[in-house]
Amino acid sequence: MLIRANYGKRESISVVIMMAYKLNTVIFVGVFVEKWKKGKEMWRTAINLILKWSICGCLLMGNSLQAAVVLQYHHVSDETPASTSTSPTLFREHMAYLAQEGYEVVALPELLASYVSTEGQRLKQVAITFDDGYESVYTKAYPELRKRGWPFTVFVNTKPLDEHWKGFASWKQLREMAANGATIANHTTSHDHLIRRLDGETEHKWRQRVKEDLVLAEKRIKQETGQSHRILAYPFGEYDLSLMKLLESLGFVGFGQHSGPLGSIHSPQALPRFPFGGHYGGISDFAQKVSSLPMPVESVSLKAAPDTDIDPLLPITDSRPSLVLTVESEALAKGINCFASGQGRVQTQVDNHQVDVVLTGALPAGRSRINCTAAAGKGRFYWFSQPFFRPNEQGEWPPE
Ligand SMILES: [Zn+2]
Repeated sequence: MLIRANYGKRESISVVIMMAYKLNTVIFVGVFVEKWKKGKEMWRTAINLILKWSICGCLLMGNSLQAAVVLQYHHVSDETPASTSTSPTLFREHMAYLAQEGYEVVALPELLASYVSTEGQRLKQVAITFDDGYESVYTKAYPELRKRGWPFTVFVNTKPLDEHWKGFASWKQLREMAANGATIANHTTSHDHLIRRLDGETEHKWRQRVKEDLVLAEKRIKQETGQSHRILAYPFGEYDLSLMKLLESLGFVGFGQHSGPLGSIHSPQALPRFPFGGHYGGISDFAQKVSSLPMPVESVSLKAAPDTDIDPLLPITDSRPSLVLTVESEALAKGINCFASGQGRVQTQVDNHQVDVVLTGALPAGRSRINCTAAAGKGRFYWFSQPFFRPNEQGEWPPE
């Protein structure tokens, strides 16, 4: 049985990896060694193959794979904008909760790589990430994390660091954190909306511009910290199919800001994280999210194009995408509740293992999400999120 996830182009490699899975990894190892011999960068190949391998394997094993959860913070401060801030007190409570409940906090590269080796186990692994590289990560979060000896990741924009912008950490502080377990990863040079094309910009020029930005940010991180993981956090969590393909061609994985644990359905260039800040992150909300399990989704598509990968960047003419989830059982399909930005809970129509999400109106211009959850037993939830991005009818983006 080959299960096809409607994301990214992975058909041919999926067949190989699925065979590898069935043949107890022999072919997987073969593919890996072959790639290595050809001089590909070993770690890059490893991460991509491991993720793709787990994508196939996890589905066959249902929930026997662990739920790996990535947490996303921005500021850890009482003095910064509320919507992107978690208070130092609440942050400490989050960390205390993880310790008390026996979660294992691991570095993000390790989490991505260990996804495969924990097969059959139900470890509780969490990675902690901070976007933008704000000063409060160094002054407030780092002391707490260092005290616990926990690794974490800072996704940095290199321009504010190079130009010593107020409110941002310094390269010196980042080097200190890196020396004590921090992963420093790519958030582009300038935090642009990568999916937005400039006036009159061709696809080729767009691709060139974005590629140069990603490569320059990676280079600056390497020069200043010695690290180069090729892990990108998309600014604003915004990505489209073209950007995913660009990342794949550069050997990058990409994290968005759509919520959920890492699951089988996710392309390595469209990985989810749970964002905290503003209204999100009260301790019961936090507990529910860190204990969530990936929704056992076999495929996700849009009703209008069932055989095509979903492009989260909607065309001007499509403000009401009809999402279709195919899950492992009818019982699960019937237990799924979906929520859309600006619409609250929306209707679902179940036909056998298929769930049609019926929006009540247009998604708002800008960023939106459809989140689906279902009870997984013992107070835990299956979780799946699909982001969408769209300009308004005039082709303009709402002001930030
Ligand atoms: Zn950011």
